[in-house]
Amino acid sequence: MENIKDNIKIVLDNIEIAAKKAGRNKEDIILIAVSKTKPVECIEEALKNGLINMGENKVQEIRHKYDVLGNNVKWHMIGHLQTNKVKYIIDKVSLIHSVDSLKLAEKINAEAIKSDKIMDILIQLNVAHEETKFGLMTKEVTDFVIAVSKLSNIRIKGLMTIAPYVINSEDNRHIFREIKQLAVDIKRKNIDNVSMDILSMGMTNDYMVAIEEGSTMVRVGTGIFGKRDYNKR
Ligand SMILES: *Cc1c(COP(=O)(O)O)cnc(C)c1O
Repeated sequence: MENIKDNIKIVLDNIEIAAKKAGRNKEDIILIAVSKTKPVECIEEALKNGLINMGENKVQEIRHKYDVLGNNVKWHMIGHLQTNKVKYIIDKVSLIHSVDSLKLAEKINAEAIKSDKIMDILIQLNVAHEETKFGLMTKEVTDFVIAVSKLSNIRIKGLMTIAPYVINSEDNRHIFREIKQLAVDIKRKNIDNVSMDILSMGMTNDYMVAIEEGSTMVRVGTGIFGKRDYNKR
């Protein structure tokens, strides 16, 4: 627990350093603390130290933690989402980062209509083809954005990606740069309901490089809460 406070300070300092280097304001970058597998007490410690955005990748876990913490936290769904589970989180999360099929987008739209809300989403790109089967290919994105933009209760806010695990974060720079460019290209098309102002990219190992290349949301788990123990989940 002690470490969480120190870790947050380190990450926030690093965000400022990376932002400065790129001529950006640190205020334009949102730190999402990825709290998956971690107990509620860890999230409370993060809240106490000024963070409010938490990232989770399991519906069940969001439900459990939401029962305790409710809207004191801005919940981000960052993991693969099955259509039959959308109904459990539609009124709990502030942003779904992982939309990668029309079927899922349509389900989110239908549940959002039922809940009388507008759901903000990001489109997940697959740039690390071997490591994850989720996400769209770059060349599919524009058509997908156009199709999803027609759904009444969804707003496309931007793009998300999980870059490959690399020892040297520089190796991912070209990926972040390509995604930034893709977002700029899509934004230029001025599609209704599509803003492209959020780029969710960068994790513990590469968030500084991601910020230098235009990321507006970094998802940091290990760097804040320490290593995860999946057996204790
Ligand atoms: C677990 C996870 C993270 C955080 O990873 P760390 O390397 O621990 O920072 C970020 N994004 C997604 C989608 C994740 O599943």
